[in-house]
Amino acid sequence: MTKPFQIKEDITYLSISIGIAIYPDYATDVTSLLKSADQAMFYAKEKGRNCVHHFTPAMETSAIERRSLIQDLRFALDKQEFELYYQPIVDLNTNETYKAEALIRWHHPEKGMISPEIFIPLAEDTGLIVDIGNWVFKQAVHQSQQWRKRMHQYFQISINKSPKQFNKENNHHENWLDYMAEKQCPADSITVEITEGVLMDANSIVTEQLLSFRDEGIEIALDDFGTGYSSLAYLRKFDIDYIKIDRQFVQHVETNSDDRALCKAIIVMAHALGIKVIAEGIETTAQKDFLFNSGCDFGQGYLFSKPIPVDQFEKLILYP
Ligand code: C2E
Ligand code: CA
Ligand code: CA
Repeated sequence: MTKPFQIKEDITYLSISIGIAIYPDYATDVTSLLKSADQAMFYAKEKGRNCVHHFTPAMETSAIERRSLIQDLRFALDKQEFELYYQPIVDLNTNETYKAEALIRWHHPEKGMISPEIFIPLAEDTGLIVDIGNWVFKQAVHQSQQWRKRMHQYFQISINKSPKQFNKENNHHENWLDYMAEKQCPADSITVEITEGVLMDANSIVTEQLLSFRDEGIEIALDDFGTGYSSLAYLRKFDIDYIKIDRQFVQHVETNSDDRALCKAIIVMAHALGIKVIAEGIETTAQKDFLFNSGCDFGQGYLFSKPIPVDQFEKLILYP
């Protein structure tokens, strides 16, 4: 099947995803057997297509679990089950904190706290991410205004914006800008963190949104830098303000000379382009020292603090 097919003038390429379920191990009637095979096939597609997967009972539980979480997620916003935690982003030159990243938490009434790594993908698949993202944005606007009064006159909060929030139907960047104007919130109070995926398939809508943020003075940070394509052309084209070096590189700077070289190179390159650098996931003083000595501008990680609720954040910064 991988041989190209000629259909009139066009050449068509196919790939095949196969799911296998075995009777009587996982099902004893035709309908459930096909259903299991179907789940295994979807799993094969999720794993990048063009491969074979056997059904396992874990797929069934995860499918049920998933449906039930999605069901609950639909009401979580109305039921006020979300909370933003904040993690300090520290100026490595002065050890001052006047930036923070907002990280969402879901307090599920029965399951307790659910990690964004679990529910953000579900929110993306169902489109709920748009409303959740708007809520995050409004909270962050409010919080930055509070903290500009109470902590630092240039306090800045970064929010994560999923690729799914950039599309035609949710063309809400203008609403965001209007909202900030209405609340008299200076544009540089908010930084939007995006991933390279957003730039990779940047169509005109994405480009227009990013450039309008730039024109208004909202800064853009490129998250998880180094894990994707890390194309230099994109950095130029979209006028990125910050690069966040992924934790994966920071984690091993003490032991791995390749990672040390990579961090240094990213910093030098970013600075040459006028981009500031934030290192993510700093957990030890040795990591911090290495990054500071390599010229890195900002650091974020458990060494300084985990993401924490608003009141704890205020205590940490105002009464250390
Ligand atoms: P991210 O944007 O890369 O956020 C950094 C993650 O690393 C956070 O996980 C943070 O708690 C964790 N982290 C920070 N410092 C350290 C450290 O020193 N060591 C270790 N091991 N981990 C550290 P978290 O809060 O679980 O968030 C996970 C991901 O969920 C985020 O990754 C982001 O992609 C997504 N996310 C969180 N909040 C939002 C949101 O409001 N909107 C969207 N679209 N995505 C969000
Ligand atoms: Ca982030
Ligand atoms: Ca990150």
